[in-house]
Amino acid sequence: MTNEIILNLKKTAMRRRESGHLWIFSNELENIDTSISAGTICRILRPDGGTEGRGFFNPRSLIAVRLLQKGKTPLNPDFIEERISTALSYRRQAGIEKYCRLVFSESDNLPGLIIDRYGDVFIVEILCAGMEQLKDKITSAIVKLFRPRAVHYRNTSRFRELEGLEIYEETEYGSLPDEISIEENGLNYIIPIPDAQKTGWYYDQRENRAFLEPYFTGRRVLDLHTYLGGFALTAARSGAAQVWGVDSSAKAIEYAEKNALMNGLADRVIFQKAKAEHMLEALEAGLLPEKPDFILLDPPNIVYNKKCLSQGIKMLSKMVYQAVTALPQGGLLAVSTCSNHITRELFTESLAKAAGKTGRTVSLMELRGQAKDHPVILGMPETEYLHFALLRIM
Ligand code: SAH
Repeated sequence: MTNEIILNLKKTAMRRRESGHLWIFSNELENIDTSISAGTICRILRPDGGTEGRGFFNPRSLIAVRLLQKGKTPLNPDFIEERISTALSYRRQAGIEKYCRLVFSESDNLPGLIIDRYGDVFIVEILCAGMEQLKDKITSAIVKLFRPRAVHYRNTSRFRELEGLEIYEETEYGSLPDEISIEENGLNYIIPIPDAQKTGWYYDQRENRAFLEPYFTGRRVLDLHTYLGGFALTAARSGAAQVWGVDSSAKAIEYAEKNALMNGLADRVIFQKAKAEHMLEALEAGLLPEKPDFILLDPPNIVYNKKCLSQGIKMLSKMVYQAVTALPQGGLLAVSTCSNHITRELFTESLAKAAGKTGRTVSLMELRGQAKDHPVILGMPETEYLHFALLRIM
C-alpha cells in the first residue's frame, strides 16, 4: 500500500505487545499526530523497524490503535466481508448460525463491530471511529452474504462518545419490523425490536439457560431480572413447580407474558413488573406468600469504568447476601455479572464475602462464562465480561 500513515511504537510498548493484546494505548506510541483523522487505518512500526501490523488509529482515544492485522502482510481490501464470512462459518460449526451474535468485535477480528443476527434481521452496533467509516462495506457485506430483510444500526452505546462518535439509530437496508421472533434451546421468543434493550436478545446467556435445565425440575424459581423471560421460561419448560419472573421494565414484562403464552407455559409462570431489590426486601421481611428455593440474579451492567467498580460490587454483594439469606437449605442461587471490569477472581471473591456474611455455608457448583458466539481472546481480558455462578446453600 502506498502513502500509508506510519505510527511508531515506543520501546517500552513491546513487552505488552507479546501478551497478544489487540489494542495499543496512546502512551505506547512515540507521537500522536492529531491531524490524522479518527479511524484512519495506519501501519504500526516496532522500534526495530519491523511492521507490528495495521490498525484503526484514533488520536482522540486512549485506545489509540485497534489492531486489524498483525505482521507485514497488507490488509485485504475485502477484509470486512471475508471476516464476517469467517465468523459465520464458526457459528455454523457451533450450530447457532441463524440466531446468534454473528460478530463479536475483536474476538472476530473486527474491532468495534457487533452484529446480532435474528434470522433475516441484522442489528449492528459500531463502537469505534474506524468501523464507522466502513459502514457501507459492512451493510453491503451483510446484504451479499445473507439477503436480509433489514440491516439496522443501533449506534446508541455510550462508549461511542470516547471515540468522538454521535449517538443515532437508523435502518440502512430494508425495513425493520416491530417484532421479530427467535428460537433458542427449543423455546420461541418474540422480541420488540424498537423498544428492545441492547441489540434485542441476550444471546450470551444461551448456554447458561440450557445448563440450568436439570436443576430447575421441581423447584420454585424466582427470576429477578427476567427481561423477556429467558431463564424463567426455560425453568417452566424444565418442570419447575412454580416460576415467578420479575423485571423493572413494563415492556419486558409485557413481552415475557406473550412469550409464556406462545410456548404454552402461561399456567406455570407469573410475571410481574417490580424492582429486584424490593422483591428481595419483601422476601427478607417474610412478606411474600410463597418462598422460592431457586433465585436468579442477572442485573444490568452498572460498572462502565473502574470508578463505578466498588459501587457495582457493593450492589451485587447486597443482593447475593439477601438471596442467600432468603433461601432454604438445599436452595440454589444463579448469579451473573456482565462487566469486563469485574474479573472472574473479583466475582468469586465477592460472592464468597457476601455468602460468608450470612453465616451459611455455600458451595460453588459451577462457574461459567459467555456463550460460544462471544469468544474470549487470550491475553485480552476485556473480551471476557460475563460471569455466571451456580451456588448451593448447604
Ligand atoms: N436475564 C435476562 C437478561 C437480564 S438483563 C435474560 O436472560 O435475557 C437485565 C434486566 O434487568 C433488564 O431486563 C432490565 O430491565 C432489568 N432491570 C434493571 N434494573 C432492575 C431492577 N432494579 N429490578 C429488576 N429488574 C431490573
